[in-house]
Amino acid sequence: CRRFTNRKLKKLTNLPRNMIENSMFEEEPDVVDLTFPALDPDEVVYEPRSSRLLVRGLGENDMDEDDEDCESSARLLGMSFMNRSSAHRSSSFPYTRQAPPRSCSRPSARTTVVCVLFLVIVASMTMVLYFLPGCTFTKAGCRKTNKTTPFEPVYPLSTNGKLFPWAQFRLPRSVRPVNYDLTLNPDLNNMTFTGRTVITMSVLHNTKIIVLHSAHLNITKATFKVGLEGDVTVLEYQTRQQIAVQLSEEMKAGQSCVLTLDYSASLSHTYDGFYNSSYIDKEGNKRVLAATQFEPLSARKAFPCFDEPAFKATFLIKISRKSNYTTLSNMPQVKSTPLPNGLVQDEFEKTSVNMSTYLVAFIVADFTPISKNVSETLVSVYSVPEKKEHTDYALDTASKLLEFYNSFFEINYPLKKLDLVAIPDFLAGAMENWGLITFRETTLLVGNQSSPLEKQLVASVIAHELAHQWFGNLVTMSWWNDLWLNEGFATYMQYMSLQTVFPTLDIVSSNILRFRALDKDALNSSHAVSTEVNNPEQVEEMFDSVSYEKGASILMMLNTWLPGKQQFRKGIIQYLKQFSGLNTDTDDLWNSLTQHHNVSEMMRSWTSQKGFPLVTVSRQGGQVTLTQEHFLLTSDKATYTSSLWNIPVTYVTDNCKTPRTLELPESVKWLKLNYRNTGFYIVHYGDEGWAALKDALSSNVQVLTQEDRASLIHNIFALSRLGRVSFYQVLNLLKYMSNETESCPVTEALLQLNVIYRLLDKRQEDSLVARMKHYILYRFGSLMDNQTWGEEESVSKQELRSALLGSACSLNQENCIQQAKALFKHYDESNGTSRIPGDLQQVVFTVAAQSNEDWLTLLHMYQTVTYDAEKRKMLRGLASTQDARRIVWILKAGLRGDIIQTQELPLVISTVCNGFAGYLFAWDFIQENWDRLIEKFPIGSYAIQTIIKSATSQFSTQAHLDRVQGFFSSLKERGSQMRSVQEALETIRLNQRWMDKNLPTLQKWL
Ligand SMILES: [Zn+2]
Repeated sequence: CRRFTNRKLKKLTNLPRNMIENSMFEEEPDVVDLTFPALDPDEVVYEPRSSRLLVRGLGENDMDEDDEDCESSARLLGMSFMNRSSAHRSSSFPYTRQAPPRSCSRPSARTTVVCVLFLVIVASMTMVLYFLPGCTFTKAGCRKTNKTTPFEPVYPLSTNGKLFPWAQFRLPRSVRPVNYDLTLNPDLNNMTFTGRTVITMSVLHNTKIIVLHSAHLNITKATFKVGLEGDVTVLEYQTRQQIAVQLSEEMKAGQSCVLTLDYSASLSHTYDGFYNSSYIDKEGNKRVLAATQFEPLSARKAFPCFDEPAFKATFLIKISRKSNYTTLSNMPQVKSTPLPNGLVQDEFEKTSVNMSTYLVAFIVADFTPISKNVSETLVSVYSVPEKKEHTDYALDTASKLLEFYNSFFEINYPLKKLDLVAIPDFLAGAMENWGLITFRETTLLVGNQSSPLEKQLVASVIAHELAHQWFGNLVTMSWWNDLWLNEGFATYMQYMSLQTVFPTLDIVSSNILRFRALDKDALNSSHAVSTEVNNPEQVEEMFDSVSYEKGASILMMLNTWLPGKQQFRKGIIQYLKQFSGLNTDTDDLWNSLTQHHNVSEMMRSWTSQKGFPLVTVSRQGGQVTLTQEHFLLTSDKATYTSSLWNIPVTYVTDNCKTPRTLELPESVKWLKLNYRNTGFYIVHYGDEGWAALKDALSSNVQVLTQEDRASLIHNIFALSRLGRVSFYQVLNLLKYMSNETESCPVTEALLQLNVIYRLLDKRQEDSLVARMKHYILYRFGSLMDNQTWGEEESVSKQELRSALLGSACSLNQENCIQQAKALFKHYDESNGTSRIPGDLQQVVFTVAAQSNEDWLTLLHMYQTVTYDAEKRKMLRGLASTQDARRIVWILKAGLRGDIIQTQELPLVISTVCNGFAGYLFAWDFIQENWDRLIEKFPIGSYAIQTIIKSATSQFSTQAHLDRVQGFFSSLKERGSQMRSVQEALETIRLNQRWMDKNLPTLQKWL
């Protein structure tokens, strides 16, 4: 039994170092075939001989050997340089490409962008590997390693004691659903429903069984028809949420058949499946409603179905309701029929498109709409009646974005209507159900007086969900391993469309999210963008910043690299057209984008292995050498990887000439790679390189864009965590901060310093905490003092001041506290006539919550205010209290779900954890209530990821590490295997390491 791999080098990480070595070179080394990409000859100068650019694709460990040998063993198969010169304009934006000007228009801020494709292959990596993961030799030989198809499957027992005829997590491919007829009868008084599902299927391979999904449904009757109709027995295996029908005779490929299932169930009390929700109306009455949330695995809780994204079908849906309610579904309603029992049955058009089950949706409620026609589509926004006045902005925004996407993709939105609905109880931000997008109230409703920052959030979420109508709904990933095809794209399109359609909403803050994705991906517990998914928890875990932010980042990097303004767009249009109505995997996308350039080759290095590269720059005179290695914070022999990436490197210098190689004139003072932070990598410039950049910024901040400045700040903190630069160098770079004017670099710097501040605080390093506080107030003091407290229109100024004032007040800066208190007092006394500027509400409420009396006032406001965005900021204020009794109360209230909705519990926990008093309470609370938490939020879900991360990421001692480890390992199948647990443990170890190493440094330098 041997397994050969040279593509999936990530497998190496699973093996201890010695096992890797033992398994090497047992056979002739095989050379990995990396073909040189076809490049447009006009744009390329290929001159590897004269090039001074050397990429050593060697990790740290290899460098221990003789340098000469390393170089000679490195085979540079190809290297190409494309030169592009562009003047740097601070208004341009990396998501939308700018046509390069012909010459430098602004000599004072000259920029050269050179994209370099590195194609490097190192002979030491081109090896044949043998390894035997869990493989044992038996008489029968080695079993196949593919765990989903074992040789002799062990069939589980059904609920009735008979053998269940299917032993895998994924469904068999022998039959395919063609159409579902769904009839649903919800009873909102008793919180139950009954249903009938009629599934028409076609047989793809001869089979005697039909296996599909069903969860918590009580199936009362089942009939089956292939030719003649007859009753059948349905077997159920609850652990995998599967049901099976065993037939006496084999069905033949090409036949079609119909399965009819009658069932009853309870409306769900969590946030998935067909769940009940409620709100209190103006008169103080409780109004109940029912809505759905099926992604990823919960359609099976509302109707029996083939609940995998590749089983697309059409749907015809009928729902009964009381006469004072309305119903909504993916398609327009075609008729309403009075039923004998006094109810009304609404029937919707059969879907005009094939659709995955997770996109089906229906709602029974008393919402009111506002509507508008956009080309062929009726766009409507629904809310509870008293919030109707908050829906105008969403309707206008959705209409503009729909028009934009229709023309950008050159494919019209295929349905006749598009509803956007704000649901009072909703866990995710929003859900892209085809034709019936559901939102939290905060992400859809905007008050008349809302600030641009609040509009930015709503516009971003709408842009994201609308993009899904193409990326995700029209073309869907075949399986959850490629979730990034949905989420990375929607995230990318969200930024891109906003920049184009609403440029005043200025969204450079997306850089901050990408920095967080880098931080997560720097851990050994991270995963490849496209990664194996074999159980429900792993499906849930795919909804993380790697799928969303890293996915979006690598698309942006690709867009920057592809020559010509439209090539990326043309590629994705071709992809959407070619696979319209179908399912795809990552390679399908790369193949569509490969026209003149070999995109697959480059992009696979970003999607098939976890992590990202650290590019180290060294200059000797005019010669610049770049080397790459895996940026891994937990780097030791056990986790060593020899991963390499094809990195499209961009750079900017103080010289306007456009060198074709990275051979720079000696007069060039500084060099910054990753121009405008469009690449997903970190750069180390060496001591001199960093010093030169710091000098350049100190004399003129404008020599670099704010994205570049922010990425320098992020990178240097990351390098200090890795141990490559000292904390002194970090502080040295931050000296330029007093001249900083933009939100992105300031926010990133404060965020990074705050992480350290909190670690010190939680370790009770009181003298260092005081010095850190003094340092932040000293370094940012003049910027903080310059902020105003009145209404402010510019989004970037709002972002800047909310970051600065948030920090100032949390560090108890006198002036900030007084201003905030005064605003709160004025607001409270005005009886709703005055308002606090939207971007300052958080700061003001947080300050107010620290006083005994104002906390109670704030709680009263929280219970009465209708506008959800404001309400959420009040909640964060309430949760920031340092009063132990109130902390415990608010955690419990969040779990109970009466005064504080349970959907807000992750937010409550993460806010509580920031404070010194709160973080220990929160950890106890999580341990004590774990079972109730995973009842409300699925294991692995983003909510659980947030809860674990916020509760553990500030621990930095062995005792805490032991406690966290002990707790999670006691959970067994209740969540011990989650990736976020690995991430938590790794983070605590890294915190511990950082503290051991840097406490003395901080004593010295702060
Ligand atoms: Zn999404």
